[in-house]
Amino acid sequence: MINEDYDVIVTGAGPAGLSSALESAKNGAKTLILEKKPVIGEPTRTSGATWIDYLENYPFSEKALGNPIRGFYFCPPSLKEVYFKLNKIVGYVINVKAFYQELATMASKAGAEIRLNSKVERLKIDGNRISSVLLNNGEEIHGKTFIDASGMSAVLAKQVGLHEGKKRAVFCAEYDMWTPNLPQSDIAEFYFGNDIAPSGYAWIFPWSKERARVGVGIVQETLKENPLLYLRTFIVAHKIASKKLKDAQPLEFHYAKLPCTSPLKKTYFNQLLVVGDAAALISPLLGEGIRFCIEIGKIAGNVAAQAIQSEVTVRTLKRYQDEWKERFGKFFSRSLKANKAAAKFSNDDWDSLIPYTKRFNEYPEIGLRFIRSEFSISDLFKISPKFALKLGFKAI
Ligand SMILES: Cc1cc2nc3c(=O)[nH]c(=O)nc-3n(C[C@H](O)[C@H](O)[C@H](O)COP(=O)(O)OP(=O)(O)OC[C@H]3O[C@@H](n4cnc5c(N)ncnc54)[C@H](O)[C@@H]3O)c2cc1C
Repeated sequence: MINEDYDVIVTGAGPAGLSSALESAKNGAKTLILEKKPVIGEPTRTSGATWIDYLENYPFSEKALGNPIRGFYFCPPSLKEVYFKLNKIVGYVINVKAFYQELATMASKAGAEIRLNSKVERLKIDGNRISSVLLNNGEEIHGKTFIDASGMSAVLAKQVGLHEGKKRAVFCAEYDMWTPNLPQSDIAEFYFGNDIAPSGYAWIFPWSKERARVGVGIVQETLKENPLLYLRTFIVAHKIASKKLKDAQPLEFHYAKLPCTSPLKKTYFNQLLVVGDAAALISPLLGEGIRFCIEIGKIAGNVAAQAIQSEVTVRTLKRYQDEWKERFGKFFSRSLKANKAAAKFSNDDWDSLIPYTKRFNEYPEIGLRFIRSEFSISDLFKISPKFALKLGFKAI
């Protein structure tokens, strides 16, 4: 393979890297994506629930979008279930491999090159300038701007000191299951309680006919057992879920971590931008990352391509951080605050909080803003002052 120089070199072909590459290639930058695995979208590292609105401008196929979602279900330890139903499609549980590979195809059509089996080891830095990336096979590839989209490993962000290493995270265990008895396929289900998922929650997200991703996520500091043990207990012993999962069988096992913390203080350095999980650009409320990977990846790709046309300096790249902060910064910090409050909940706390979510049916826009982590403090007070207070918000 001939080693050319690239304008933008992206490490990692997850949603953050693919979106960044798509945007940078669309804006005329010669773009390369380096992915260490042999397949894009495998192994699965997400449950794949995401929203419809921001995807409207992308030509995803029905196959990639997966299964439409029209409502939500919350089950507290008391088993007093709450449904929040909307009479329209609000999101999808995507077919992860098809979705990521279609995003990769869109990036390729825009001109990006993809190299698989290409593990990035580190950046080569000459003085103040980053000149290239070095692969584990000894190859060196020259570039002008670099994007770290390597997920939790944050390989380049760690090298340059933007990422301090270990951070608050959620450990997840998930089965992709054959679910012949799941009664409703258009509802994303959430189950709470310290016996199932202390400081987190369990979920059932249907992603195609008779297939669902069933998992548990637990904040690392409260993790006492392997999350797989919680998952098995949830599937066989939860009084409601075990009936819905009758005869279900696992077809794939996924084990992964996601950041549950505030974003990196600085997401740019000389000619490097950091996106997605590598920068902890995720809403900690429910662990939603895909939308932010794609939306913020788009900003990164755009800023990187624009910078090439003028001069790649810290000042030109800072625009990336200014833009994502302006659009999403307050949502990330409110979500983290609510997540930290909920992580300390007892079963009684969950039993008193979940009934307030019935009010989402009266105020569906607020309900959606809450689940999307786009809520204002007055939204929470409108649901109920007790709801706001329980989630750690004292005043409007
Ligand atoms: C179990 C689980 C369930 C989740 N469920 C949801 C959900 O339902 N909805 C939602 O919105 N979010 C969900 N999330 C969060 C969301 O999946 C993540 O925020 C998102 O996948 C992060 O994307 P990314 O591109 O930053 O990183 P990743 O998807 O992790 O991609 C990083 C890529 O970089 C590659 N890579 C790593 N190191 C190197 C290297 N050195 N060189 C080259 N390539 C490298 C990896 O192989 C990988 O392909 C979930 C997360 C987990 C763990």
